[in-house]
Amino acid sequence: MIGVSKLYCGTVEPSDVLRYGRKSKALPSHLLQFSEDKRPVIVWNVTRACNLSCLHCYASATAGKAPDELSPEEALVLVRSLTGYGAPVILFSGGEPLMRPDIFRLIGEAVNGGSRAVLSTNGLLLDARTTARLAGIGLSYVGISLDGLEERHDAMRGRPGAFGEALRAVDTALDAGLKVGLRLTLTKSNLHDLEGVFDLMAARRIPRACFYHLVDTGAGANLADEFLSHAETRVAVSRIADLTRKMFENGLRPEILTVDNHADGPFLCLKMRSEGRDADADRALELLRLNGGSSSGNGIGCVSWNGDVHPDQFWRSVVLGNIRERPFPAIWNDPSDRLLAALRDKKSHLTGRCRECRHLEICGGGLRARAAHATGDDWAPDPACYLTDAEIGREGATLAAGIWRSGHWHDYAQIQAEGLAAPPAGSLGDHQGLQPGLPPLPSRSPGLTRARRAGPGRSG
Ligand code: SF4
Repeated sequence: MIGVSKLYCGTVEPSDVLRYGRKSKALPSHLLQFSEDKRPVIVWNVTRACNLSCLHCYASATAGKAPDELSPEEALVLVRSLTGYGAPVILFSGGEPLMRPDIFRLIGEAVNGGSRAVLSTNGLLLDARTTARLAGIGLSYVGISLDGLEERHDAMRGRPGAFGEALRAVDTALDAGLKVGLRLTLTKSNLHDLEGVFDLMAARRIPRACFYHLVDTGAGANLADEFLSHAETRVAVSRIADLTRKMFENGLRPEILTVDNHADGPFLCLKMRSEGRDADADRALELLRLNGGSSSGNGIGCVSWNGDVHPDQFWRSVVLGNIRERPFPAIWNDPSDRLLAALRDKKSHLTGRCRECRHLEICGGGLRARAAHATGDDWAPDPACYLTDAEIGREGATLAAGIWRSGHWHDYAQIQAEGLAAPPAGSLGDHQGLQPGLPPLPSRSPGLTRARRAGPGRSG
């Protein structure tokens, strides 16, 4: 997660983090991403059942629950094992987690065990009674999905009226005193809705929003035409930062985050430098160092509805073990698991531009699930990294990572050119090209080589 409001609007100082000794149990929730002990935040997909069938669902949810879903007794054993292990946060997700009849008991158990419980929901089942119950058992936060303004949200969610229902859920949860945030997955279709979504946040005083970069796993793999190009991603992240700052200038202080593309961190630093804000960029850099970048298999983990443990919620092709066979801590701390060991020592394994990147320390090498899925190599560069070779300190390189879009690789030189081009008329306004004086593009390679080097871990 990249804290746009923290980094770009200066809501947090490095000293705020250090004051708590960087211990996950001591840190307030908004500073957890800077913890040193890296007890994992656990995304627990408690059920595969869902009352919607969203086009971008990474979990490929279904109408009914999976036949091998954990029983209430097994789920209780799991939540106790997670709290006993010291998971600072358990994120109850799905499917639609509120379709699990014992969800309140599981959340209550997490809270009683000392973990923060947060809920990720489409909001359809979030009525006044349910929100009051969730507030009563100590739920810390509810994230409600919103994929744009009305037309786009309903289309993405496959249900007319879903937008109004989601907003009703937001209002109901706010009324119940719950901390509420929006969750929006960035696509080509909703880029033009960003301003409207921020307006909506301001009007309703919604205190938090997470903007997710689309990941091509689960149903998201079928959305090739909805992936943002590198140029569009730059525009989107820059626009989110600008809209966040506008809210602050208007006296609001929302927490705004981006998720699943850690290149956003160095990008924001470069943006600040391009705006003459070097001191702010230095402060942001220090915070990013304390965060350390992407942490699949270390600072974040995932448990599926059937008890399978994954390095994160997107890397479902990798199963580290199943909690029916071994408790979570035994799986997570298994010294013989080569992938887990490698994920905790990524610098030694990453290849290509990530290995050479000057931002590796603060980015962590991007999202490994995306790289593995796109290339078959767990350690290949993240193809969604949109920073130019010059921006990552790799000037003069003639070979670079490409990107897998619409069924074929796009040459990186082409992407660079695209990234430097002005936006089409009538699109998202000013394109925040960060380095107008970039050196000439590297010579175009005859063909992009797909990384096929066998990594020390495993794929699939
Ligand atoms: S090249 Fe790799 S390490 Fe560098 S910013 Fe991009 S994804 Fe991160």
